[in-house]
Amino acid sequence: MQNCLLTGFQTPPRGRPRKIQPSWVRGKADNYRDILDLVWNKVSPRLLQAQKREDVIASFEGANIGGYALDLVVRADLILAVLKDADFSKRKREAQINFLADSIGALGLLTPRSSRDICERERARIKSIHQIIRYEYWIECSCKYKGRSLNHACPKCEAQILLPSTLPITASLMDQYLSEDT
Ligand SMILES: [Zn+2]
Repeated sequence: MQNCLLTGFQTPPRGRPRKIQPSWVRGKADNYRDILDLVWNKVSPRLLQAQKREDVIASFEGANIGGYALDLVVRADLILAVLKDADFSKRKREAQINFLADSIGALGLLTPRSSRDICERERARIKSIHQIIRYEYWIECSCKYKGRSLNHACPKCEAQILLPSTLPITASLMDQYLSEDT
């Protein structure tokens, strides 16, 4: 039953996808970079040896990242293909994480290669305009997680950060600042 469900999600939609915005792909890839960085030490020994989809799924079993594991496990076939890519680094941790994250950023709607190209172009574009496009907090959660937040929530139990009530003021000041700048 579980496998049927996974197979269903892994079938890519027919035909060419509608236009996918580069920022979506880059954002998703960043998200995967964070998740993979959190679990890489635990997951990579099994993941890097994976020969089939079931091996990829099994490698995430002890990852302890709540729902984020499902997000990766439904893309087991895609992940497997990326791991077998000749350009996938054999040794370097960061290179492995970034390559995998950027390859699956388009969620299989584009080829891993196109997904990586989009990420690279988007990062270059962002770098050239110098704006903070994302921020996270360092958190201590009651679930015992300590470290960087993910999408302003605990990556382990997904408890949301309660943002301070002053934030709308800060945000409007930021808008003002940005509009003066342009
Ligand atoms: Zn937590």
